[in-house]
Amino acid sequence: MKSILLLSKKYNYFRLLAVGIIILTLIFLISVGNLNTILATAATTDEKGYDLKEVKDDVYVISSNGYNVMFLVTGEGVVVIDAPPGIGDKILTAISEVTNETIGHLIYSHSHKDHIGATHIIFQQQPDIEIVAQNETADILKMRNDPERPIPTTTFVDNTTLTIGNKTIQLTYPGPYHQRGNIFVYVPEQKFLMAVDQLTPGEVPWKHLAATPEVPALIRSYDQALAYDFDVYVPGHGETGTKEDIKIQQEYVNDLKNNSQFSLTNVNYTEATKNIDKQNNAAATEAYFNALTDICVDRMESKWKGKLNGVGVWTDEHCEKMIQSLRVD
Ligand SMILES: [Zn+2]
Repeated sequence: MKSILLLSKKYNYFRLLAVGIIILTLIFLISVGNLNTILATAATTDEKGYDLKEVKDDVYVISSNGYNVMFLVTGEGVVVIDAPPGIGDKILTAISEVTNETIGHLIYSHSHKDHIGATHIIFQQQPDIEIVAQNETADILKMRNDPERPIPTTTFVDNTTLTIGNKTIQLTYPGPYHQRGNIFVYVPEQKFLMAVDQLTPGEVPWKHLAATPEVPALIRSYDQALAYDFDVYVPGHGETGTKEDIKIQQEYVNDLKNNSQFSLTNVNYTEATKNIDKQNNAAATEAYFNALTDICVDRMESKWKGKLNGVGVWTDEHCEKMIQSLRVD
């Protein structure tokens, strides 16, 4: 009796072990299958070297190496916005994935080489395209005299509306939020707005406050963007966003302004420079600015840590730039 019981226990043990092995094998096979699918997808994007997304009907964003290009298929030629060196050689390939139309217009979002430095690649293949930009962008490019960034053929000062095929595209100069001549690109029928180097959804403002030459223009630009009726925001870098992304950015910059003002009100110059040789102007100025910045940084980080990517990386630059703007603008 005892030996029969032992035998049946042993039998149950082996049965459990066998079932266990079968389950583990199945889990392994399923996960390998998934992994292969993931690897296959990644390989496709890697092989192409870019990602292509239709964000609205006939409106596409090509993303590669952290940069975005937008293009619109109009029925009467493709309109492209920007040609960054990191994507330049892939723009024509990406367009050919969705249409046989050739490029009729290229719009410069601003003159910076990292966003339009591959224009010559498109220009070599389609030399009759119209290049549209704001007047100041054209002036900057004339000074640069860079064959990779051809001079715009059509310019405007405040705003212009392009009607091309079935698309109406409004271009507006809101002021130098990032650089003289930077523009908003808006398509009212499809409710999307493209603004390059104004902000990256989910991220803190870029180094030195979006590298703006004019902090008040950056501050104004959030309300200017929010005044448009749109539901997709196309940035120059990163994923597309919504009005919420602009509102968060605006709140961050408002806090920055308030905290910078708090520093200016509460830091005493004599106290902040008491250990500095009074003959050394640069050192005294630096000590004063460091004292101002430290308070602003502490107040910003205690509120914003975890709310936007990159808080803590450039907070000191943001504070210093805002403090200087409040002193002089
Ligand atoms: Zn730029």
